[in-house]
Amino acid sequence: MAEIGGAAIRKLAETYGTPLYAYDEDVIRNRLSDYMKYFRSDEFETGVLYASKAFSCKEMIRLIDSYGLYLDVVSGGELYTAVQAGYDCSKIFFHGNNKTFTELREALEYGVGTIVVDNRMEAEVLAGMAQEMKKDVHVLLRINPGIEAHTHQYIVTAHVDSKFGISPLSEKEMAETVQILSDCPYIHFDGIHAHIGSQIFDKRAFEEEARKMFEFAGKLKTDFGVCVNTVNLGGGFAAYYTAEDHPIPLQEVCESILAVCSEENRKLDGQIRRVLIEPGRSIVAEAGYTLYTAGFIKQTPNRLYVFADGGMSDNIRPALYQAKYDMFVDGKENDPVYAKYTLAGKCCESGDILIGEIGLPKIMPGDILVMKTTGAYGYSMASHYNKLPCPAVVFAGGGSAREVIRRETYEDLTSREV
Ligand SMILES: *Cc1c(COP(=O)(O)O)cnc(C)c1O
Repeated sequence: MAEIGGAAIRKLAETYGTPLYAYDEDVIRNRLSDYMKYFRSDEFETGVLYASKAFSCKEMIRLIDSYGLYLDVVSGGELYTAVQAGYDCSKIFFHGNNKTFTELREALEYGVGTIVVDNRMEAEVLAGMAQEMKKDVHVLLRINPGIEAHTHQYIVTAHVDSKFGISPLSEKEMAETVQILSDCPYIHFDGIHAHIGSQIFDKRAFEEEARKMFEFAGKLKTDFGVCVNTVNLGGGFAAYYTAEDHPIPLQEVCESILAVCSEENRKLDGQIRRVLIEPGRSIVAEAGYTLYTAGFIKQTPNRLYVFADGGMSDNIRPALYQAKYDMFVDGKENDPVYAKYTLAGKCCESGDILIGEIGLPKIMPGDILVMKTTGAYGYSMASHYNKLPCPAVVFAGGGSAREVIRRETYEDLTSREV
């Protein structure tokens, strides 16, 4: 019988029901402490920001706080969750290409430390609001450095016509935005930000990004007379999903990035004082498992299906961008492979396939199926499709587990309906 965080999987399924998101809390803790340990430099002040969109709930935010990470939010809802968790808003970075007026106002009212401005119009609105509310705020400007990280195309964000950030090629938009940010007395224009993609396996992509960003910081000074001190390189660090994946060891990628930053900063005579990164996926993905109970099993002419009691409602990634996962059958880890199965969900979409084909031991209805590496963008992208209640989330560690998000009930599902 397999365990997660020392807690027996069978017991977790019995106690909390399935589907269930179960996290090995020690895996998250180790990852948080590794990031804080390896992303360190004698030359720069460094900061690691947890991109909360990967998995956001109050307990997760308290956990990252206890390791000294800063926090990224991308919506009023994520901001509210951080406030409810008691997180210090001055350590929050607020991202997004279309923050609403309400969200910007809330950010200023809560005292969010840094707003990452995406475009000229946002700069204008924020400058006006900060002036009117007499609120000081730090700002990073999101740049599109035009680097294609080698990953699935739907996840890449940094091509020149990306909806995120301003490309230095858009000279007018850039010049006007920089002008607005540097003119507003309430805005402290600290630096620049970029995020070049997700699930990036090639560290050269990060190195290239760092070079471009430092060069651009230099250009801001020579072309616009604006001297920024911060470069934020975003997230995108890869996680291990299947045997095809070879993530760069954390220490190696952190050291490579910081080495390039040092080299580039010499060309700028030490202008940049602070370097930030924003991992999301790589902190939580591998710590997370989804437990399903096997239901009916069906042979079609070409496929042997096993059906899960969840599906695209708790994990949209396979349907959305053909994400690949590995899994095992609890208690049968050492049994010989019996057949190639297709793991399908219970939602009314023929695309609701969690794993296309995988060799597994003989499965019986009632077996607990455990999908691995579901800790990032699983719960956070969950939906109520087919009115399936959202599963519970548990953190397991030291042999016991605790619920950090309770399972939704049928009453919850209709509680907001008239
Ligand atoms: C999504 C996102 C991240 C985190 O990306 P991961 O691939 O989960 O590490 C960081 N920064 C920004 C701006 C993002 O949009």
